[in-house]
Amino acid sequence: MREMQPNPAILPEDAPHGAAAGDAVLVRIAATAASKEDAIRQAGQMLVAAGCVAPGYEDSMVRREDVANTFLGAGVAIPHGLGEDKGLVRRDGIAVLQLRDGVEWNPGQTAQLVVGIAASSDSHIAILRRLTRLIQDEARLAALIASDDPHAIARALGEDGAAPTSAAPVADLAHSAQWTVDYPAGLHARPASAWMDAARAAPAALRVRHGHDSADPKSLVSLLQLGLKQGDTITVSADGPQGRAAVDQFLAVARRLTAREKEDAARAAAKVAAAAAQNGGKGWQPETPLAMLAGVAASPGLAIGRVHVVAAAELTVPDEPVDLGRGGAMLDEALRRTRAQMTALIDDTTRRLGAGDAAIFKAQADLLDDTDLITLTCQLMVEGHGVAWSWHQAVSRIAGQLSALGNPVLAARAADLHDVGRRVLAAIDPALATGSLETLPDGPDAAPCVLLAGDLSPSDTATLDPAKVAGIATALGGPTSHSAILARTLGLPSVVALGNDLLALGAGATVIVDGDAGRVWLDPTAADIASAQAWIDRIAARRRAQEAERSRPAITTDGHQVAIAANVNRPDSVAFALAEGAEGVGLMRTEFLFLERGDTPGEDEQEAIYRAMITALGDGPDGHRPLIVRALDIGGDKQVPHLDLPTEENPFLGVRGARLLLRRPDLLDPQLRALYRAAKHGGDLSIMFPMITSTWELQRLRARCEEIRAELDAPAVPIGIMIEVPAAAVQAAALAEHADFFSIGTNDLTQYTLAIDRQNPDLAAEADSLHPAVLRLIALTVEGAATHGRWVGVCGGLAGDPFGAALLTGLGVSELSMTPRDIPAVKARLRGASLADLQDLARRALAQPGAAQVRALDAGAA
Ligand code: PEP
Ligand code: MG
Repeated sequence: MREMQPNPAILPEDAPHGAAAGDAVLVRIAATAASKEDAIRQAGQMLVAAGCVAPGYEDSMVRREDVANTFLGAGVAIPHGLGEDKGLVRRDGIAVLQLRDGVEWNPGQTAQLVVGIAASSDSHIAILRRLTRLIQDEARLAALIASDDPHAIARALGEDGAAPTSAAPVADLAHSAQWTVDYPAGLHARPASAWMDAARAAPAALRVRHGHDSADPKSLVSLLQLGLKQGDTITVSADGPQGRAAVDQFLAVARRLTAREKEDAARAAAKVAAAAAQNGGKGWQPETPLAMLAGVAASPGLAIGRVHVVAAAELTVPDEPVDLGRGGAMLDEALRRTRAQMTALIDDTTRRLGAGDAAIFKAQADLLDDTDLITLTCQLMVEGHGVAWSWHQAVSRIAGQLSALGNPVLAARAADLHDVGRRVLAAIDPALATGSLETLPDGPDAAPCVLLAGDLSPSDTATLDPAKVAGIATALGGPTSHSAILARTLGLPSVVALGNDLLALGAGATVIVDGDAGRVWLDPTAADIASAQAWIDRIAARRRAQEAERSRPAITTDGHQVAIAANVNRPDSVAFALAEGAEGVGLMRTEFLFLERGDTPGEDEQEAIYRAMITALGDGPDGHRPLIVRALDIGGDKQVPHLDLPTEENPFLGVRGARLLLRRPDLLDPQLRALYRAAKHGGDLSIMFPMITSTWELQRLRARCEEIRAELDAPAVPIGIMIEVPAAAVQAAALAEHADFFSIGTNDLTQYTLAIDRQNPDLAAEADSLHPAVLRLIALTVEGAATHGRWVGVCGGLAGDPFGAALLTGLGVSELSMTPRDIPAVKARLRGASLADLQDLARRALAQPGAAQVRALDAGAA
């Protein structure tokens, strides 16, 4: 029913809890609007008709939209006139259009309550404060959007009551069911994010209660504040005719996650056990009784060092009030840019570590959409504070609430919130993008220190230099935090959740961090330091021996050598890859040069990066180490905001990779020019095009390469393609005529062959590159390449799996490119087998009915 009310106006005398004295609250129930402008004009005309504003104010409201975003959030928009037209306001009032079907306000933002504001004074802020409070109460807001009672809306906008707390009342709703949390790590951010998605998709508003605490499951923070642990029983409830279905659906999602949570916990435990075993089994024990702080082991190994206390990053965020409309737009833009950064991070992690780990980052990104957080920020802004200040306050307050609950899972989430919060702050004002680690002891005599901090953000941890830092100890944090993951990647022993006593330690004191046992030993004696050092030296010697092995080539027992390369995107990561045993770079994903920044790197800048890669690779025993640079693989899931690519319904099937390059010479040409300019300075450079489906694409791209090469008088370089689309694998022989080499992207080839979105965590287990269908396409590719004597590499995830690498070698693949840390295990596996055995293994694998049966051959493999 979309009828326009004949007499829409409710004047203050009708409103039982009227707005501030003299304010008019005008409400039009079940209105319709053809467009945003139509909605704004309707609201403006209501204000004109009620005598709140002079005619012409509607125009001013419409013009304002050109300079500011008036979408407040949660379906509420607040159009109002330009500051210079305040003279048109005769008395304060608001006109509310209830648009049940909504109207698109901005792309992706739909307004259902359009609140036109006429305000000559501070009453504007008062109105906004009420609105932002209302936004916090999602259930009430939803009721108002559906209500037939204009008085209810007038009352809601006239109330100045206390801000609701994030905890909803503890009574259950009409339909309820109980469930006992059986996730070993409790409700941490990743499953909470899935709960949130389920609640948002549910046909009725839900409530989750644990004891006296209850949460709105549409809010991630609200859910996390429950601090649910394994064994906690919750009651999920909902009202209305769809209430039962909503509860059942929600709990089905919660239950479905159990298996994966258990698997993850088992895998994490196995990793810790393996690390401990590698570090000498029983671990190190002091020889004398020492004072000790007990925490949670986060990254294995032992570190001795003087304490360097990282002062809690006391970031001074100036409070610089701005016009509310502009402030809203600034916040919106900063959140948009941060979301894009997070998309890049999720994408990168999915590729390097898999969809399971990337889901942790997705949960961090979800915090950006948390209504509690946004509303609190808006509230502070409407109170007259600056954007950056309000955001910083909101993050600090909510993170403070999470940390105060004394639950390690929540403490880890608080760190994530601070971290993502800092990204937004830097996006609001780049001057606020300060790190907190500038004062690390430096200089030639400075021994690596032990960092002591309240908590360390993932971003801070990622920038740590192991030459300056020996280990990490934090008062807060959890072993599943991003910081812990990064510390493990960096090989820095780390203990978290040591409590505030840790921070009482003075700078300069010596400690021993035991990342296996989760302990920090204080004031060790000289004898203890010596024995700990001997233990560290033993582990290091073992590692060095492994490293020596890593640098040996991967030659099978019958003398067949497989080229082993690394997937590396940045020059400063090359040294690590070489240390792990890489013989070159088989895949440099250049999209990360574009994804992580707000603009497109120019030709000169790109050339400098490619040259730096070549220089970092240097020469190996057989001359220049090879570098394969993949041309920009943008589009689809990899959105670069500043390129303004159109939104696609099925981005993985859209204008992606080579398809985009062929449409955007402004992206292709500078990259090719930069590559050929770099090639003129030497090195062993190859260019590779992603997502090739048909021969004409390759022919066109190749022709463009040749034109640019000739213009620059540059040397010819090999031009290869990725085989990622089944069509390309099937037509490998035709493509091989025009390509100098192939590199199989098993991540995409698996996705397209099995029709499984590679980012879908629910299907992650089924997206198995060992599926015989994928293996058969690889075999076809090798066969097709051979018709023109081309070599075939693999740079997708399968290359880094020792069993996968063995199979691929048996299938005839001659180069494997992988995440650097996978190299030692892959080399060891290949060295232990004969090519004949691997070919036999490949033959048997191709004959299997499914991925599980292929995997089962692993035990019998060499
Ligand atoms: C692949 O698809 O396997 C691949 C290596 O490319 P990306 O992961 O960058 O899509
Ligand atoms: Mg790919």
